[in-house]
Amino acid sequence: MFELTGNRTEHEQMKKFYNLARVFAEHAWDSMLKPLVAKNEFKRRFQNDEVLREAWRSLAEEPLGRAIERYLQNDLVRGLVLTDAKIGVFTHPHDPSLVQNRCFLYHLIGNKTGEWKVPVGGMGAVAAELEETARKSGAEFLTNVELIDVDLGGKKKIVEFQVDGKRQSVEARFLLVNFGRNVLAKYSGRPYEPNAADEGSVFKINMLLRRLPKLKATKYPEAEAFRGTFHSEEGYEQMNASYEQAAKGRLPEKTPCEVYCHTLTDDSILGSDLRQQGFQTMTLFGLDAPYSLFAKENDAMRTRAEKKFLLSMNQWLEEPLEDCLAVARDGSLCLESKSPVDIEQSLGMYHGNIFHDAPTFPFAEHSEQAGTWGVETEFENVFLCGSSAQRGGAVSGIPGHNAAMKALETL
Ligand SMILES: Cc1cc2nc3c(=O)[nH]c(=O)nc-3n(C[C@H](O)[C@H](O)[C@H](O)COP(=O)(O)OP(=O)(O)OC[C@H]3O[C@@H](n4cnc5c(N)ncnc54)[C@H](O)[C@@H]3O)c2cc1C
Repeated sequence: MFELTGNRTEHEQMKKFYNLARVFAEHAWDSMLKPLVAKNEFKRRFQNDEVLREAWRSLAEEPLGRAIERYLQNDLVRGLVLTDAKIGVFTHPHDPSLVQNRCFLYHLIGNKTGEWKVPVGGMGAVAAELEETARKSGAEFLTNVELIDVDLGGKKKIVEFQVDGKRQSVEARFLLVNFGRNVLAKYSGRPYEPNAADEGSVFKINMLLRRLPKLKATKYPEAEAFRGTFHSEEGYEQMNASYEQAAKGRLPEKTPCEVYCHTLTDDSILGSDLRQQGFQTMTLFGLDAPYSLFAKENDAMRTRAEKKFLLSMNQWLEEPLEDCLAVARDGSLCLESKSPVDIEQSLGMYHGNIFHDAPTFPFAEHSEQAGTWGVETEFENVFLCGSSAQRGGAVSGIPGHNAAMKALETL
């Protein structure tokens, strides 16, 4: 930080700023597995001293941009902070919807420290463990199921589906729904009424590399530079400009993005032969790429966006990323790009929103939500157990726990 800014003040200010998130987390995290607390009652937890009051004001009441600008002066440092508020959603520092605050909190409050954890063996290993445990307890799994009809109105919920070409149906007293509110609305014949903050905004590029690309900067070896999050075009003013350009319907001139190299943290996600040959995975997460940009001409726009995001990265590299890509057996390069439209089409996530819809605050924003688990729907005994629930979003398991608690409570 000293090298970047030439003084120690910015570092001290950054510590103060992140302390706000830390104290917020300390007072919020334990409530995530409990019924929702009303906003006013939640706020009272933050009234005991000046830091707590400041944390509440900065993170829950005023647009995050105000605190960023109050505490931090360096554009790169401000931008670094802002990225956690923008990942996956289309927003800017002074967005009155506060979706930037909610997104920021999601990245910062986990386990009270905001520490991100990487499952050894990848996400598949987590799913496999859950599956094994559920099977041991008698659960039966059906995958590749085509849902035909869902009857949610009666005491018994009826789900009709097709699997392996056969039509079947199940009846149940409780239905826990993992897909988003948008898909639930479609099956229940109710209108889905999203607002602007629900729009997804991500361009994702997954790559398998034969080797890590050489960097123009020589200060740090590649394996160190790519170990954490590598940011490109993510200065604060730069992201204000890219937001504005995207909001006007244009692919930003400079496309902000960051890359993660998961294999440097946990190489068990690759087979041992690829590992020995030095292969690495690289994931690029592009910002300011809202669904609306891709809605009309997804294929053409995806090609343009892919080029731009790769160019954004390549400006820092001695050799372009394309030269480091692995080649598949069929001769194609090991690179896949996904726009918000692709994400919606393959997973049903509304407008490609990686959280299913806008992330929520950890408290009840409306008085009628207070005391609920945040998983309830307009249908009796139909609960959201995935990202669309209040306090859903991300791989946290929170909505699943809360839906189960709601069902147990209702039994
Ligand atoms: C590109 C990207 C990057 C992400 N990065 C991170 C990250 O780094 N860290 C993190 O914590 N989270 C991340 N997330 C978010 C995280 O993946 C989601 O929050 C999480 O997967 C939500 O889990 P879920 O079980 O609620 O829903 P989902 O994983 O969305 O599961 C819902 C399931 O419902 C199925 N479905 C949808 N419609 C139908 C239908 N009509 N019939 C039958 N089935 C249907 C879908 O196919 C899907 O399998 C990322 C998401 C994306 C897309």
